[in-house]
Order: sequence, then structure tokens, then C-alpha cells
Amino acid sequence: MELRLYDTLSRDKRTFVPLDAKDVRMYVCGPTVYDFAHIGNARPVIVFDVLFRLLRHLYGAAHVKYVRNITDVDDKINDRAARDFPGLPLNEAIRKVTEQTGKQFHADVDALGALRPSVEPRATEHIGEMREIIERLVAGGFAYVAEDHVLFSPQAMNAADAGLPRYGALSNRSLDEMVAGARVDVAPYKKGNTDFVLWKPSKPGEPSWPSPAGIAAQGRPGWHVECSAMAWKHLGEHFDIHGGGIDLVFPHHENEVAQTCCAFHQERMANYWMHNGFLQVESEKMSKSLGNFVTIHELLADWPGEVLRLNMLKTHYRSPIDWTMKSLEESARTLDDWYRVAADVAPGKPAPSVIEPLLDDLNTPLAIAALHGLRGGDVGALAGSLRLLGFLSESAAQWEGRKQQASGVDAKEVERLISERTAARARKDFAESDRIRDLLAAMGVAIKDSKEGTTWEVAR
Ligand code: AMP
Ligand code: ZN
Repeated sequence: MELRLYDTLSRDKRTFVPLDAKDVRMYVCGPTVYDFAHIGNARPVIVFDVLFRLLRHLYGAAHVKYVRNITDVDDKINDRAARDFPGLPLNEAIRKVTEQTGKQFHADVDALGALRPSVEPRATEHIGEMREIIERLVAGGFAYVAEDHVLFSPQAMNAADAGLPRYGALSNRSLDEMVAGARVDVAPYKKGNTDFVLWKPSKPGEPSWPSPAGIAAQGRPGWHVECSAMAWKHLGEHFDIHGGGIDLVFPHHENEVAQTCCAFHQERMANYWMHNGFLQVESEKMSKSLGNFVTIHELLADWPGEVLRLNMLKTHYRSPIDWTMKSLEESARTLDDWYRVAADVAPGKPAPSVIEPLLDDLNTPLAIAALHGLRGGDVGALAGSLRLLGFLSESAAQWEGRKQQASGVDAKEVERLISERTAARARKDFAESDRIRDLLAAMGVAIKDSKEGTTWEVAR
């Protein structure tokens, strides 16, 4: 069985062949840490976690290196720091913002059942690599210094000899059209209107580092070069998979490819470019002004992380996803059922019926359909398959207990009412036993009678 992945660059699904037959290298763009992550940000985290788990299953856990960065230098971080900690020096305030937000991000993604990546590099710890890439680009004639900025010229790249990719190839745009369509009011220090920033001067009080390319003033990196530097440091000049949300294809990934390939004279940066589709909420684009902006943190107050995870995976990663309450409720019911039947059984090998669709460009909806198929038959394989996908991190009792706690149902009181009802039934007082059943239903508790006795659960 071979793994096939859709590559945004070649626009087709290809058999996955790692550069190094035994070891796989993957880079995914991580969060800019200035605020709570929203449920859209959870999508790449969950999608690439499933890929990470699948690759570990195929190549062995020690043979997959997954790098997901933390962007901790950015204008949005500076703005947030000045707003939230006006009394502190800016650099201290920035440290507070990035520390708090980074911790919150970890708490959120841990709750979603995502494994930690092999390396989580921070931009501020890779300034030296960024400077080195910038120096190489200037030396190669792909970048130039102007007013203490360093700018990358896509036109210089496309005018260069063979052996480099064409700027625009990843996002399927023509540079000529970009030049013709670009805004006219570009910054005066730019030679070309599509040139982008590799390095810029810092304002007083802002984080700053010694600049490359002979610039005397201190400065800071542009966003795109951060990822080129971190990917290079941890995965090398050319690696297997690069991922992120579809919104990053242009300009972020197009510019990453340009920087890395021109700095190292490579035809490729990554062999497979993978992008998840966008998430919208109740059929609308998520935005603060529409009031439908939901953070992972808020959702976790109402739903277990695994419910959010399952809900995300019900849609194929390349399709847009409509995040709805109705779908969440359905996902919760599904997981309640899987926990009841599979959480406490010895996990068997993951079923081929689940693995096969995953090997076909991570077809999680088909894999989930296969899980439903196992539900009535091989529950050992169901348990093993669910674990492979990052579910069943708790026991059935923990799951049910959490649900009861979240619903505010008092388990002791429920048990007392159930034994009263059992007594009423024994003396054939059906009016009383029905009254108690209705009372329990009003409390949000569903009961089920069987030969072994009465069981109950919190109804979703
Ligand atoms: P950002 O912090 O905005 O750079 O986003 C972090 C990651 O989340 C990137 O991979 C984005 O592509 C992804 N992302 C942001 N918003 C959404 C969304 N609404 N749906 C899916 N992915 C998103
Ligand atoms: Zn990136």
C-alpha cells in the first residue's frame, strides 16, 4: 500500500516518495502568537497531526521529523503588547504576550489530541540563519538594500539562469500579470512593485537585531524569511512536505520557495506542498465584526477536544468546511457511542478499511465511514483505528464522568432516582416509575433498561 498526496505545486496526486527512503521531513507553518487561536487555526493543526500519525505508522515514530514553528516576531505582537501592557517597556511586554499566547496555544492543541511536533522552533532564535539567507540572496543578485531595508526581487529571480523555479509557479500566477496589476503607491524604496521585504529597520523600542548586508541600523526580519530559515535549520535545503492553510499559498509560501531556492540554488524547496481548505462558521466567513469568531479555548469549555477533532475530520482537508452546531452535536453523539463500545477494549491493529482511505490523500471522511462499519463487528480494530487517529485518550468512565460534570448532572442523585424507579417497577407502580423516568429526562439523563439492569447517560 502506498501513500498518495496531492501537491499544490504540480496540481496532482502523486505517490509519496521521501527524499531519504527511511526518514520523512515535514514543515508546517505555525501560529503567530499574539492572541487566542481560533477554530480555523485548529484545522491545519489537526489535519497535519493526522498526517504525522499516519507517517509514523508507515515509517516508524523515530523516522518522521515534524517541524512547526512559532512566529514570535511580528507587528501584530508588538501592537498587542503595547495595548495590553502599556506600563512595561515594549520588549518586556512582547515577552509576556508571546509567553502567555504560546502556553495557551499548547493547552488548546494538546486538548485537540494533537501530538507535539518533533521541533517547535521560534523565529527569534533563528535570526542568524535569516541573516545568512539574506546575505546569500544579496550576493546572488536576488535581493538589494534600500533605505535600511533588504528587498527580494521576483523579477531578478525570473530573469536568472535555469535551475531555479519560476516565481509564481506555486500559486499559479504570472509575474507579468502581478507586475501589471500591482498597486501603484508602493513604498518609494522598492525598485519593483512586487518586491517584498526580507529585512526592515526597527522602530525605537521594538525588538531589533544587528542587520545583514552591511546595514548599520538595527532591524528585524520580514515574516516570509523566518520560515525559510527555520525549515533550513531543522530540515535542510530541500525536504519532503511543506504544509499550511490555503491562504498561505500566496504570498507566504510563494516567497518562501523564492528565498530558499535562490539562496541555495535549488529547483525545489519541498517535494509536496499541502494546503488545507478554509473553515467558515454556520455558512459565514468567521470574523470579529460578524460576532461568529470562535476560539478553540471557548469551544473547549463546551465540548471535549476529541469532539472538535472528529468534527474537523468529517470533511476532507482540501474542501472548505462549514463549522456548525448541528454537526458538533452529531460528532459528540458518535464519540459517546465509540467510547461506550471501544474505549475499554484491547486495541487491535488498525483496520485496512481505515488505513486505505487515509493513504489516498488523507481521505478522513471515508476513513470515518469505515469506522462506523467496524462498530457493529470488529471492535478491537475499531479501538486500534481510533487510537491511530488520535481518539480514545480517556477511559469510558472518564469520558462519561466528564460529560456528567459538564452537564451539571449529579450522579448520586441519578443513581438514587434509578433505584427508586426500580423499586416502583418491582411493585408494579408504573405511574411512579414513568414519573421518575420523565424527571430524569428533564434533568437531561437518558436511561436504558436491559436484563442486566438500568444504565444511564447524559443525553446530548
Ligand atoms: P495565522 O496565525 O493566521 O498565520 O494562521 C495559522 C494557520 O491557520 C495557517 O496555516 C492558516 O492558513 C490557518 N488558518 C487561518 N484561518 C483559517 C481558517 N479560517 N480555516 C482554515 N485554516 C485557517
Ligand atoms: Zn511559514
